[in-house]
Amino acid sequence: MHKKTRKTKLAYSLKSPIENLNKKGRTKTAIPIAKLPNENEVSLSVIIHNSGKPGPTILFSAGMHGDEINGVEIVRNIDHLLTNEYQLTKGKIILLPIINPFGFTNFSRYLPDGKDLNRSFPGSKNGSLASIIAFILTNTILPHIDFGIDFHTGGEQKFNYPHLRIDLNDKKALEIAKITETNTIIHSTYIAKSFRKISAQKNKPILVFEGGESNRIDNAVIDTGITVALNLMSNLELIKDIYIHTSNQKIYKHSSWLRAKSAGIFKSVVKVGELVTKKQTIGFISSPLNAYNIPIITPHEGIVFGINNSAIVYKGEALFHLAFN
Ligand SMILES: [Zn+2]
Repeated sequence: MHKKTRKTKLAYSLKSPIENLNKKGRTKTAIPIAKLPNENEVSLSVIIHNSGKPGPTILFSAGMHGDEINGVEIVRNIDHLLTNEYQLTKGKIILLPIINPFGFTNFSRYLPDGKDLNRSFPGSKNGSLASIIAFILTNTILPHIDFGIDFHTGGEQKFNYPHLRIDLNDKKALEIAKITETNTIIHSTYIAKSFRKISAQKNKPILVFEGGESNRIDNAVIDTGITVALNLMSNLELIKDIYIHTSNQKIYKHSSWLRAKSAGIFKSVVKVGELVTKKQTIGFISSPLNAYNIPIITPHEGIVFGINNSAIVYKGEALFHLAFN
């Protein structure tokens, strides 16, 4: 008996952003990802700025973790500036303002099933929601870019000083990080199944920008992120004569968390981004009943690039993120 075979129909079109990629000017595409239980469609928004002239294609993306809003605001500003202020004179810019629209609308880092999108690459078209979005990024976006920056923030209650994370062994990533003129670059090995790892394997470095904390807007962090993107485009001559600023760039090869040696009330006496010396007291953990007041002392000189904003902590909790050489 003849058996009819059915082809799996994709819920999204792999073609649409590619078509727009060759249209001059600003275009906006929505790639359908999935339907909500009420049948409303959820899609991935792709904004493309095409100069119409040859040059590199750069990705600026955000919202991989749906509650990391500073990045979303940075990408929104890049789009606004490219539309209204600065003319793209060569190459293309692809913007993904909200990679994880489920997390964004639910104030959550994750997908509705608890999966972390940034641990789901390269993804699968038949997998979980996270896996489907990862598959779209890997197969629809990555083939068309040369490199990019993915904008993140720290986690809940963990504030990150704005910096770029790269694997220092990746010479192309290091070169790109340098021309962003960001003042702090920190070595970070690849996390398994992350967007950064899969793109590095394809020789299309995605640099990770980290700044601020989840679910909070921080204007200084947002300004730094916008400057990083503008410096990159300006130094590659995609936009002209703007934001040329030189910074005192520092590259750190190591980083580690200083953890609470006891539970108690946690107080920092340094600000995030502060340079510290070896054996400097940078905070205290106090017993509310005055049984102890433990100083937190740096093991190295370096920079405090992450601080826990929790007032009360348990033993072992990460308090200060220190980068050093
Ligand atoms: Zn993140």
